[in-house]
Amino acid sequence: MHGLASTIWCRPPVAASVFHTRLHGAGQSLPTGSPVWISRISPTSRLAIWTCLAGLRTLCRQSTLQRRASNAKASLAADDLTANGIRRVHMGSTRDRGRCLLATEDAEPGDVLIREKASFVHDMGSNVSQQGAEEIWMQFHQLPSETQAAILGLFCPEQPVRALEDSPGYMLASDDQRRLLGILKVNSVKLRGPGAGVFLTISRANHSCRPNCAFVLSDDATCGLVAIQEIKADEEITVSYISESNLLLPILQRRSALLRPWQFTCACPRCVGVDDTRGLRCSLCGRGVQWASAESDEWQACGSCKGHMDEQEMRRCLSRWWLRYNAMAPLHVEAELAACEFRRGGGCPPERKDPDWMSEVVSLHRSMRDSPAPAPGLDTHWIGSSVAAFAAEAHLWRGELEEAVAAATARATFVKRVLQADTLGLKKVEATRELARRMKEEEL
Ligand SMILES: [Zn+2]
Ligand SMILES: [Zn+2]
Repeated sequence: MHGLASTIWCRPPVAASVFHTRLHGAGQSLPTGSPVWISRISPTSRLAIWTCLAGLRTLCRQSTLQRRASNAKASLAADDLTANGIRRVHMGSTRDRGRCLLATEDAEPGDVLIREKASFVHDMGSNVSQQGAEEIWMQFHQLPSETQAAILGLFCPEQPVRALEDSPGYMLASDDQRRLLGILKVNSVKLRGPGAGVFLTISRANHSCRPNCAFVLSDDATCGLVAIQEIKADEEITVSYISESNLLLPILQRRSALLRPWQFTCACPRCVGVDDTRGLRCSLCGRGVQWASAESDEWQACGSCKGHMDEQEMRRCLSRWWLRYNAMAPLHVEAELAACEFRRGGGCPPERKDPDWMSEVVSLHRSMRDSPAPAPGLDTHWIGSSVAAFAAEAHLWRGELEEAVAAATARATFVKRVLQADTLGLKKVEATRELARRMKEEEL
């Protein structure tokens, strides 16, 4: 049904390349894979890093999935398979989701289900010039006619394609050219090398906010799908079109991230029923949680005492915490980078012994944790969980190891419950928890 245009968990987004280019000079070839290049940054470049916002989230990204992807690649090389050598999926359809990809056999997390070479590589960015559109049109017509027909058979959103509306190359194009640009826009995957690729099979994977597969990209314009959950034969293969951090946001934000580029309203299992990112601690019993409904402004009864808290009080509580959390937002990037630096073994630089973000986040974490209900749960609400993630790093730096372990555990519980998969975010917070635990043992 819908195409895909972004990858999760396995490679840095374009922003990371921009970031790197700024540090080392445009025109230099960019290394592939995100975690390697940060180690090349000299201490004198550190100041530039602190001020560079783009791509920071990619700095810490090295997940189990990446390792699995490398293992998968190694085993592929050993078996001397071609790019299309694995195919454990087939195209099918379901009544409610239309055309989709289905698994041909059972799969375990880490299994590679398909590896596919891009059928068409292009360099259409977010904005297409008139000349760029014409070049793409010409390149497309150099493809074999069967490939052209197969690409034109991929999903195309209703015209005009909103994500291209501001591009001169799109506005001035003929109807046929517009259709092609629209198809490329929603079905392309950003490659590890330059440009983006369209994949005839992988591009048919539908989105889910709890995907069972993730993309794995290789240098040779090849993309694979690796299972991140157990998958049964004939089960639909799903991926996420949005980043993992977006998957941890409430339904409304996820839908809005999907709407403009792909022009559909997600109705995956996480987007109907209960919003699993908005659980408030219940003030009636002090033990249970009240969850927000997915598509209305209502709240479900407490899971423990079955009671309903006063809705006005709940709204007041949420807006209070939202304001405090939002005020901290500019510090998020700094916190991410600081955590990354810690992980690289350098520890906290003496001149940054007590950066602003650290005391802010520690204070927010403690007051949210100790606040009487109703309050966002650290492992049930997206705001609480995000605060817990930052607090885990802050407490670790400050040597408050017990609090670091507790905060990391809350974050891990949230991610596991919401995504039910071994994701990058989960690995990262589990690493924090392990580090804090180890340091605590050494201390004793
Ligand atoms: Zn969804
Ligand atoms: Zn209750």
